[in-house]
Amino acid sequence: MPKTEQDLDRLASRLLRETIEGGMYRDNDGVEAWHTYREQPLLALLRESAYPGMGSAGGGGSRTAGSPATISVEAVDLFIAIDREALDTMWLDERIRAQLRGRLDAQLEDRVRIWVEQWRPDPAKRQQLWRTLSKWVTQIESLLDPAKVVKLRGSACPACSNTVAMVEECGELVRTPALAVAVGSTGVLATCRACGMQWPAESINDLAAVVNPEGFAVAGIRP
Ligand SMILES: [Zn+2]
Repeated sequence: MPKTEQDLDRLASRLLRETIEGGMYRDNDGVEAWHTYREQPLLALLRESAYPGMGSAGGGGSRTAGSPATISVEAVDLFIAIDREALDTMWLDERIRAQLRGRLDAQLEDRVRIWVEQWRPDPAKRQQLWRTLSKWVTQIESLLDPAKVVKLRGSACPACSNTVAMVEECGELVRTPALAVAVGSTGVLATCRACGMQWPAESINDLAAVVNPEGFAVAGIRP
């Protein structure tokens, strides 16, 4: 589906701008309340993981999941790859080149801003840019916050009643619990590896009601 200028703006803001997200959450007493949390821009988070303490905007309080010490090499690799891809593509565009002339020290974020500004009105270029930025968002999110997968041991799938599934791992068929819940920055998804049935966030409570809830507690989900 062709992306609109607003689609591109929304995507670019995840990379470039701090956003405030909100959602309904239930506390231990079952009271539901609206909570908000700040999301740092993804490019700044990646920079902080790759080069800790060298943040450009001087804003502290980054919310990096996992241990920065163990992901820093991967973060550096990804930062360099994104920076290079941005330079290579943008340099081919005469108008962007003109804007960047004399600004060789422009940061990745500044360059991406110019890129969005220039390519936003042109449908074909907008599509191409959307694909590139969307790839970066996925790459950065999976590096900083890999989905946590919790296997629901001993729980039968309500769709196919299997408790185990045979899956291929490193070329060998191994037995594994059929049901698993993946919790990532983009949400929650339960899957049966025996029949392929899926329960996205909005129907996860239906699944939790009929299977052993312990696994859900491990996954941090309170049905
Ligand atoms: Zn199943």
